[in-house]
Amino acid sequence: MTNKGTILSGMRPTGRLHLGHQSVLDNWVDLQDQYNCFFMVADLHALTTGWEEARDINRNTLEMVADWLASGLDPEKSAIFRQSNVLQHAELHLMLSMVTPLSWLERVPTYKDQIQKLGEMGKDINTYGFLGYPLLMAADILLYKANAVPVGEDQLPHIELTREVARRFNHLFKPVFPEPQGIVKKEVAVLPGIDGAKMSKSYHNYISIGADPEEIQKNVNLMVTDPARIRKTDPGNPEVCVVHKFHRIYNRELLESIEEACRGGRTGCVACKKQLAGSLEKQAVAVRARRQEILSKPSYIEEVLRAGEAKARQVAGRTMQEVREAVFGS
Ligand code: SF4
Repeated sequence: MTNKGTILSGMRPTGRLHLGHQSVLDNWVDLQDQYNCFFMVADLHALTTGWEEARDINRNTLEMVADWLASGLDPEKSAIFRQSNVLQHAELHLMLSMVTPLSWLERVPTYKDQIQKLGEMGKDINTYGFLGYPLLMAADILLYKANAVPVGEDQLPHIELTREVARRFNHLFKPVFPEPQGIVKKEVAVLPGIDGAKMSKSYHNYISIGADPEEIQKNVNLMVTDPARIRKTDPGNPEVCVVHKFHRIYNRELLESIEEACRGGRTGCVACKKQLAGSLEKQAVAVRARRQEILSKPSYIEEVLRAGEAKARQVAGRTMQEVREAVFGS
């Protein structure tokens, strides 16, 4: 490890990723040259809300890591690993749970919100594991003494909790943990789903990373456009159109002319969608080829994960040594 600073980030293994994840992955790829990076397949976290689907986790891990590698994560630069194979995550979580007041977890904004939302979808997540997941996240970060964590705005409360937990541990025992900072990438444009809602697997409104031309075409055809536009010559309002939101990201340099043609009724939605599908396909083609190549050698993915786990265990083992000494004395 160099003294560049350390980043920890992860994703739950939910299978193939979609274009909504692309900006996160692009950011990870950039961070690889600036930090010592640990990218974690958060399989223990997947159990907190999806223990009924535990048997899908291994297959989903392969699919997700294939997307990571196809998008440019480099196992030579970053440790890519499964959380559950680095046992220190569970150990530190347990240690921290002894000194974390219950009220700190109960007040995490996503807690009650998620219980209600997932409850409405028929999921019972009134479990000890679900209450404790922000603390598991804190353990994930502190284990590598990460000083930076790339997050969305909605996850900042988790970073704040991690900082509080680190302060409390350092105060009660010995100063072991640095306080991490959340890095929010402001300019990341949020891609909606094809229906205009948040892109999500559960809403079935997504396009996969490296999708094939049929999937792209089918989903672009289903995108919601300006409902007031009946004829091709009617002036349109791109601001209310999902296709336009995609053009903003995938056709940035042509955006002005696309908007003018729409507003002036000089182009039809069919042609506009065709142009978008072409751009998405152009972008998907290289990722798709890399993805297929990676998935044709599942043993390669396994090797990447094993090497990442060995690297992660080294760092995590050193931290736990310090934690044990701080708590129990040497
Ligand atoms: S022309 Fe394009 S931007 Fe305008 S409403 Fe149709 S699909 Fe949307």
